[in-house]
Parts: sequence; C-alpha cells; structure tokens
Amino acid sequence: MAKREATHVIIRTWLFPGDRQVDNMDWLSESINFLVVNAVAPFLYVARLDQRIYWLYLFVALLLAAWIFIHKGSEKKSVRPVSSLHRLKEFGSFCFPKEVYGHTSAKIDYLFFIINRIAFPWLIAPLIVGVPIVSHISNLFFTQFSFLIGLMGHAGLADKIFFTLCSLIIMDAALYVSHYLQHHVPFLWEFHKVHHSAEVLTPITVYRMHPVDDLLTGSLASIAIGFLTGLFQILYSEGLGLFTVAGLNIGLFAFYVFGYNLRHSHIWLPYHPVVSHIFISPAQHQMHHSINPLHFNRNLGFVFAFWDWIARTLYVPMQREEIVFGILDKDSRDYSSIHRLYWRPFVRAYKHLPRINQKKQN
Ligand SMILES: [Zn+2]
Ligand SMILES: [Zn+2]
Repeated sequence: MAKREATHVIIRTWLFPGDRQVDNMDWLSESINFLVVNAVAPFLYVARLDQRIYWLYLFVALLLAAWIFIHKGSEKKSVRPVSSLHRLKEFGSFCFPKEVYGHTSAKIDYLFFIINRIAFPWLIAPLIVGVPIVSHISNLFFTQFSFLIGLMGHAGLADKIFFTLCSLIIMDAALYVSHYLQHHVPFLWEFHKVHHSAEVLTPITVYRMHPVDDLLTGSLASIAIGFLTGLFQILYSEGLGLFTVAGLNIGLFAFYVFGYNLRHSHIWLPYHPVVSHIFISPAQHQMHHSINPLHFNRNLGFVFAFWDWIARTLYVPMQREEIVFGILDKDSRDYSSIHRLYWRPFVRAYKHLPRINQKKQN
C-alpha cells in the first residue's frame, strides 16, 4: 500500500510539479482533467492560431483553391450552361476528391496525427523550454563582451521590425539545416521517410512526422532562436520584443495565412519563377514529395527559398509537372500501419549505426 502511495506521489509530482499538497481526490480529478485535455487537444488544433491547421489558414487556402478552380474552369469552354449547384459540387470534388481524402495513406495520417498529439504532447518541449534556456546561456555568453552591452541603445520601431525579421530568418535557416540533415544523414533519413511515405497529401500530412524528426527540428530551431534572442537582449539597453500575433512571429503568421496548407494538397499553386527564388511555393513543396529522381532532395526550405538557391537544392517548376508522391522504397509495408510508422524507422536506422562505427575505425 505504501509502495502504491509512493508511486502516486511520483506520478503526481511529475504531472503537477507545482502542487505537492493535493489530496487523493484532487489528484484523481486533476489526472482525469489532464487526460481529457490531452485527448481533445488534437481536435482543437483548428482553433489554435499557433497550429498550421488553424481555421483561418485553412479558410484562406480554400479561397485560393476557389480562385484556382474558377481560373481553371474559365479555360474550358462549356457547351451547355451548368447550374450553380453543379458548379458547387464540382468545386467540392476538386478540393476534396475521394481518391485523396479517402486514400489509405490519408487515413493513416489522420490517425497518426491524433495518436502523436495525444501520446507525445512533450514534443513541443524544445520550443517551450529550449528557447528560454538557450537564450539565457546566449545572454550570459555575450555579457562577456562588455562593448556589446547596450551597444544599439534604445529600441525603436525599426529595431523591432528588424528583430522580428531576423528571428524569422534564423528560425528558417535552422529548419533548412535540420531538413538538409534529415535528407543527407542516412540514420536521420529513416525517421524523415515517415513524412515522405505519404502517397497523397492533405493538410494533415504536415503532422505525419516521426517524434524523432520533430525533436530534431524543434531542438535546432530552439537553439537558433534562443541564440539570437540572447544576443539582441544584450545589444539593446532595455531589451527588445517581437511583433507577434497571439505569440506567433507575425512573419510566420502571414506565411501560414497565405496558402500554407496548399503545400500538403493535390492543388497546384506555383509562384512566379523570380518569387520562387525567395519563397517556397506550395507547388515547390509538392515537388519535394515527388518520387522522380530529378526532384530528390530539392526544395528543402520552409518559408524562404534562398537557402535552397544558395545550397543548389532549389527546383523551380516552369510548368505543371506530373508528380507521384511517396518514396522509392523496397518495402512499402513499413509505412502501411501506425505501429510500423513508429517502430520501423528505429529498426532501419539501427542498421546504419555499424557503418558509422566502421568509418570511425577507418
Ligand atoms: Zn523532406
Ligand atoms: Zn511535406
């Protein structure tokens, strides 16, 4: 009995670290509350501005899809006039075709998303905990250089805009590095393959990420943002804040609003070739998911395309190209069920470890 109570205390302390005095009833109700909050969390993502499937981002993507649909429709010369209801049905099928949204790969995405978000809510820990920690370390480091302290004086509007932009750029650079490593380090590629194994793309595919993949990306982004924040806090005498929308960098918010969700979809939206050298278009990310060897390891950028341009991994489509999504893998069964999505990458990644050891010995 005493042992059981001790276990309760340990779990209780882990779940509610700030409240060690709760009695058993409080503990029970708070545990239930914790579980319920976690269980419904994925279903509330559409109401959370910091999530990529926030209703506004989806709605604007739908408006863009409507614009593409109308433009596409005007190219065809209709022989007979069609009713509004018929056009609406056509639009529905254009946006949500059964062969995409009812595909087995899409169904796995839905389930994987729900399980991932319920089972691994701590995956966002690198961003929540990591940024303040790295920022503090960075701050302490730059304090060593006394000439930097307050060098830029008081922050004005232009400084705040500059910091907001720098923060977005450095986060994006970290995401590019992370994505580059996921594609070029065989051990990491095994985990990233989970995302690429999707045979159809829907906005939920963005969450088809192995927890190891998410942790790497979140950690590198935290280090980059934390480092920059620590430096800027030293440079300005009274510190400096970002322009945000409900806590989200305003630049990232704008990026999500303007059609982000079309990148994981079947709807083709390219940018002008010049713009495609600065921003990654939805079409460019779709090419990133292509099994065509010409498109392998291309368009690794998240917001900005110039990282790809600099590293020669950019691919700008000049016209619509037929794309088959997925990976060229000998054993596609590895990605055909939820439990395989979690465990097979570990098994496959383990096979790459002896090679690393061999290289070390050589
Ligand atoms: Zn990738
Ligand atoms: Zn993707």
